[in-house]
Amino acid sequence: MSTPPAPPRGAGSDVEVALYEVRRKIYPRAVTGWFARWRWALVWFTQLIFYGLPWIQWGSRPAVLFDLEARRFYLFGVVLYPQDFIYLTGLLVISALGLFLFTAVAGRLWCGYACPQTVYTEIFMWIERRIEGDRAQRMKLDRSPMSASKLARKSAKHALWAAVALWTGITFVGYFTPIRDLPGALLTLSTGPWQTFWVLFYGFATWGNAGFMREQVCKYMCPYARFQSAMFDKDTLIITYDPERGEPRGARSRKADPRSLGLGDCVDCEICVHVCPTGIDIRKGLQYECIGCAACIDGCNQVMDRMGYPHGLIRYTTEHALEQKLDRAAVVRRVLRPRVLVYSAILLAVTVAIFGHLALRAPLKADVMRDRELGREVEEGMIENGYRVQIINPAERTRRFRVTVSGVDTIFVAGDAEFEVGPAGVRMVPVTVRAKPGNGKPGSNKVSFRVEALDDASVAVQAQSTFFVPR
Ligand code: SF4
Ligand code: SF4
Repeated sequence: MSTPPAPPRGAGSDVEVALYEVRRKIYPRAVTGWFARWRWALVWFTQLIFYGLPWIQWGSRPAVLFDLEARRFYLFGVVLYPQDFIYLTGLLVISALGLFLFTAVAGRLWCGYACPQTVYTEIFMWIERRIEGDRAQRMKLDRSPMSASKLARKSAKHALWAAVALWTGITFVGYFTPIRDLPGALLTLSTGPWQTFWVLFYGFATWGNAGFMREQVCKYMCPYARFQSAMFDKDTLIITYDPERGEPRGARSRKADPRSLGLGDCVDCEICVHVCPTGIDIRKGLQYECIGCAACIDGCNQVMDRMGYPHGLIRYTTEHALEQKLDRAAVVRRVLRPRVLVYSAILLAVTVAIFGHLALRAPLKADVMRDRELGREVEEGMIENGYRVQIINPAERTRRFRVTVSGVDTIFVAGDAEFEVGPAGVRMVPVTVRAKPGNGKPGSNKVSFRVEALDDASVAVQAQSTFFVPR
């Protein structure tokens, strides 16, 4: 019996290709420098706002509160209702346009400096370094067998991470429920189910994303990384290694003349790789994993200082600048290209429109709905129509309002015409309207309701409806 021929290599064999790349843990090295200072400035700026805002009081309530149950959004002196959804839409449009603009100008500025994933990872890595040391010490600690000292360090790190994460969860929920009551309620286990869920969920997500997932969130979960390149062009400032200046790379002594050795300025120290939070080598060119944090610029500049070479082997520059050897002034001039000007103009127009509309918003809102029942004849031959008027009082004090009507001769509000609405309240009131016999044409007649505050006639609003006269 002959032996069957061996299958071709790979075909039908037991070779398995993993579709999931096993994570290689990254130990970013600490870095200092101009961009690191900017990153920390933005960590402080964004987190002072995030952690601080819910504690600011505005009168007897938090200055910023999204009260979902009462369907009121308080932003300092402004009270918004679900009817004001347009402002939220406007804010989203402004954010999207801002992102397009900043990305067209300087790549992933948002990712590198202000994205919560970057900011919390920076905070968590700072804690990690304080407890476990810098890159080499952390690598050594992870390789070492479990010991009392290792257990103590790991426990301390996780306790601090958990504390920051829990406080972040409490702060997040503090935007939706008054934060001053929250810590006490959590300690006495008297928070509601949704509050408890969101404190724990948001805290857990912070702990997991900033402590463990880190660069994987940017690489695999964030959609922005995938479509960012569509917003880049050859005049977008991106963090780039200058191969013409750096290559051929190679080690050399500080005193050696690289040109006589046939070397470029890159000493192949790999500091740029060690400081990179996503673990990539920027010398291989632009990669989607690069979040634009500029840590490699700071790291490389420190090496350049030690070697006595000029800064900027890795720097913010553009593809055109590298190809055409443009100077800094020419690069800046090209930043103001038509695309950037169009984004800026649209952003400015939308921002002015939204904030202008908000500033000029009526200090009172009213909606009128006519009852389904058509007009009917009542005593003395008068025609009566019934309405329901919704009065929204954005003022944070109780106000009385008067409802009047016009548009048909002799038309008037019969019965109650004055109503009280509580602070930031919404009230639906029944209003009966009559007209004397012989007034108004048979069928629908346009009428106008005026709702006016009794304590200030300038606080008034008009709403349109129809008055029906039977044929
Ligand atoms: S830090 Fe600078 S010199 Fe060192 S390997 Fe990176 S590019 Fe080369
Ligand atoms: S390559 Fe440089 S800019 Fe990009 S993520 Fe790494 S360190 Fe940050």
